[in-house]
Amino acid sequence: MAEEHLVLMDTDHIHEYVFGTGELKEIRGGSLLLAEINERETVSLLPTGIWHIARGGGLITILQNREAAEQLIADVRQLYFTRTASGSITGISVPVNGRKFGDVLAHAQHKLWQAKRQRYISLEKNELVPWQTGTGPLLQRCRSCGKYPSVRPDTDRLSLCISCRNKRLKADAEKVSTSSGTWKDSVSAQAKFWKRAGSLPQNKWTSACLPPDDLGELGQLSSPQNFLALIYADGNEISKALIKLRTKASLKIFSEAVENALVSALCLAIDKHLEPRRKKQPFLPVLLGGDDLVLIVVADAALQIANDLCAQFPLLLQEEIKENMGTLGSSDDGSLRELLSSDKQITLSAGVAVTKAKSPIFATVALAEQLCRSAKRRASEKYQSAVDFHFVGATAVDLESARGEGYQGQDGMDRFSLIARPYVAGSALDALLETPAILWQAEFPRNKLATLRQISRINRDMCTDEFGWIYRQLDRPHQDILRERLLKLAGAPAPHLFTPVRTHYYESPLLDLVEVCQFMWKEGS
Ligand SMILES: [Zn+2]
Repeated sequence: MAEEHLVLMDTDHIHEYVFGTGELKEIRGGSLLLAEINERETVSLLPTGIWHIARGGGLITILQNREAAEQLIADVRQLYFTRTASGSITGISVPVNGRKFGDVLAHAQHKLWQAKRQRYISLEKNELVPWQTGTGPLLQRCRSCGKYPSVRPDTDRLSLCISCRNKRLKADAEKVSTSSGTWKDSVSAQAKFWKRAGSLPQNKWTSACLPPDDLGELGQLSSPQNFLALIYADGNEISKALIKLRTKASLKIFSEAVENALVSALCLAIDKHLEPRRKKQPFLPVLLGGDDLVLIVVADAALQIANDLCAQFPLLLQEEIKENMGTLGSSDDGSLRELLSSDKQITLSAGVAVTKAKSPIFATVALAEQLCRSAKRRASEKYQSAVDFHFVGATAVDLESARGEGYQGQDGMDRFSLIARPYVAGSALDALLETPAILWQAEFPRNKLATLRQISRINRDMCTDEFGWIYRQLDRPHQDILRERLLKLAGAPAPHLFTPVRTHYYESPLLDLVEVCQFMWKEGS
């Protein structure tokens, strides 16, 4: 007897595929190509009118039997291979078997996780893709990604591999990515973003305002110049929420609401904190779909954008769900209502990596991912959105080693940290981000900030002593400001530097304050 099968698919290594090259054009093209394959071409392989959700590089649907499910998975995998040459997707199917919808989905999520793990292990063992295997003296490496051989190096002036060439063709075909551009007929999250941006009262983001040509140009629009920031944001506890939903209809509404809330939050944050600069967009949403976002943006506005994005997302998500729940009518199973009334709200975490514009973008993405994971730990403790951030010099670094060396110390049984990151999104981070303007207005001496950056991390007492010494050198009004700021950020009045956070662990926001001020000094001007 034919038995219904649920199919779950997810694109592999999206970031590796999109950021496999340092060229902004190919990054944009890769992202556009993935959205088109995921949301248009994959859907065209499904039986007409069948229930499905395709967004954020993932697909979920239910087919009439196992053979149809397996055939679809094979077809979609072939599609990804043909269209991207270096991208891939993993898919699994599980029988519905008269089980509750949430249980089937949980089973499918677990099976997909196992399959992806297996796939990553085998990819690591053998990195070659089939078209890459022929090598010889006539082949040269792709000029863009440096990973795969270029196609027809003798005639192709650009010397790109198939993967990068496909990305570039896509980017060339869709030059204008604003509200009036080619996005207007698309159903993708990027299209939603530009439509939403186009409907805002000031209408700043029109087709007269073009995306930056390359990362160097974005760096030049930034302050300080030649820096940029990469924000990686991801929904918290989303997969746990999914399996609490009892019907396909509820899942569809929830999944749509998550994406709409992310798009709206991003739009509002960008519109609030940015203006076109030299007739260019000082930002680029590189990946946007489902509960996932990668945004490249000028360095000076990145933290405010990440903060607003994370603080607004849970509220907008609630609104979206409430607005669309009514359409369920008699098929309302109550699970969305339960989700809304839960005291553990669904939130967003973001990692913000601020680096030189010429740093390898792939390393910056990796750092932003680590920062997002760190923010997620804070978010799960507090059931609130959270943001972590890091400023780096010429090259991106491994977060754990950077944090260990630069900011923390061991003092017998006690550990102490001169930063209080990650921050809960909203007023806590607002208090930090308003500090540069306050210090600037009060003409706080910048050289004293630089001195604070240098205080020793040998032990807690020495930190406190050195801080006290610098504090006493300040004029009375500047002392007051610093004391007020530290009190507001951590509840510790200067010259007391540390507050106990848990047993044997002490924290101070001092270097958060110093770094944000050093970096955003011009923001106050
Ligand atoms: Zn290439």
